[in-house]
Amino acid sequence: MDYPKNLLKPILVYLKRLEGDLLRRKGELKKEDPYADTSRFNDNASDDAEAASQFGHAQSEVLSKETEAALTRVRQTMNRVEQGEYGKCLKCKKMIDTDRLGIDPTAEYCVNCAKSKG
Ligand SMILES: [Zn+2]
Repeated sequence: MDYPKNLLKPILVYLKRLEGDLLRRKGELKKEDPYADTSRFNDNASDDAEAASQFGHAQSEVLSKETEAALTRVRQTMNRVEQGEYGKCLKCKKMIDTDRLGIDPTAEYCVNCAKSKG
């Protein structure tokens, strides 16, 4: 059984929008990164300011990694939609419960496999 075709279009629309949001977020994180702010190279910067910008940099690094991972997942999901594989569990190939996909449209595993995974 395949995922109902009439439901695929809204999912693709949703995924595209999600991809757009994530790309925008990625751009914002770059701007928020204190290391992107060249004024910090000014010699008068205090140690406190330097420590704060290091912390800010570490934070935006983590957040951009998370954003990047989410982006990858969204794109993989879009690929699966295009290949007619959407909604199939990556492990057991059974259909993932539509309620589960409703909560997380990028879900890759069915409830059972998600439970036994790891
Ligand atoms: Zn499964």
